[in-house]
Amino acid sequence: MEGKNIPMVDLRSQYHRLKGEIDEAILTVNESTAFINGPQVKEFATHLEEYLEIPFVIPCGNGTDALQIALMALGLRPGDEVIVPAFNYVAAVETVTLLGLVPVLVDVDPWTFNINPWQIEQCISRRTRAIIAVHLFGQACDMGIILGIAKSYHLYVIEDNAQSLGTGYICEDGTVKKAGTLGHVGTTSFFPSKPLGCYGDGGALMTSDRRLADRIRMIASHGQTEKYHHKLVGCNSRLDTIQAAILDVKLKYLDEFNDNRIKLAVRYDEMLSSCKHIEVPQKSTFSQHIFHQYTLVVKDGKRDSLQQYLKEKGVASTVYYPIPLQDQEAFKDTAFIPYKIKVAGDLSKSVLSIPIYSEMTVETQDYIIKTILEADQKI
Ligand SMILES: *Cc1c(COP(=O)(O)O)cnc(C)c1O
Repeated sequence: MEGKNIPMVDLRSQYHRLKGEIDEAILTVNESTAFINGPQVKEFATHLEEYLEIPFVIPCGNGTDALQIALMALGLRPGDEVIVPAFNYVAAVETVTLLGLVPVLVDVDPWTFNINPWQIEQCISRRTRAIIAVHLFGQACDMGIILGIAKSYHLYVIEDNAQSLGTGYICEDGTVKKAGTLGHVGTTSFFPSKPLGCYGDGGALMTSDRRLADRIRMIASHGQTEKYHHKLVGCNSRLDTIQAAILDVKLKYLDEFNDNRIKLAVRYDEMLSSCKHIEVPQKSTFSQHIFHQYTLVVKDGKRDSLQQYLKEKGVASTVYYPIPLQDQEAFKDTAFIPYKIKVAGDLSKSVLSIPIYSEMTVETQDYIIKTILEADQKI
């Protein structure tokens, strides 16, 4: 077991497992030469609609475009405020800023890492128009509260579901709905390492609202109603046919990929919960967790020593996210922080995500666990 080199994700073993089907799907597109808007794009969108149980899925170029298109389709105007979590990937705050909207940064919950729903209300002003609920690391936000607040204040809810495709949100009556289908519009990314990843860039939007779906489709295609008839200012954001063909193969395995990670997470939970310096990820009562990331909170300022120890033993680990958005230079003049943000900064100093991927073997996981247990004694 020495001389290890364990990555965060192992896309190669997954490809090798599905190689026959995937290669065939790619070759079919090559032969057809329908590289843009080939029939596979529509087929994949239909299959994703069925999987998510939502009427409209509109593919686009990537997950960041999806957020931008969602904001454009909702008709937000410059100066309108949009609530976004401070502990997050850059895409939401970036697209909001790019459109001349004002990102209002809100702190997150220390256990789930998702936006703290109780702080949202304090951050609402007369200009607030939307909330972006980001379902981080595989777990859905507290949509019950968020949708309730949105209803009272007449706000739109955009769900950024790039990291949690397939996760179920558990409604109050016990029914389970797929994350990304609860708000006005959901977005996702098919970046290779995401729960459903293609072999390049890709993304999609999802909604139950036909009019919104039409606007989204139009905006993603230069605001066209028909070729050379531009009704809205749009952009050019498409999912390549080859990527759609690959995704259509992989969608059949999405639940299996997610279940495999859930099983690994159960083992991590069991084996690591006795550590002195480490807290295993917490699960909320209102969401499933597909563990896009398995993220530890390392106490007592020991995060960097743990990461260093793992590195020496050949185990990758990553800090998602090392700098909270309120401290990012790009947004210092534009982001608005109405209420004190503390948790996001604390998490940036204490979180550490460790390898978890559907093809991980028990032996590999045992080595990671053994190394972490050792580290916990030594750091
Ligand atoms: C990856 C990611 C995005 C952006 O997706 P791209 O396809 O890389 O543009 C947006 N939001 C979140 C939360 C992400 O993790």
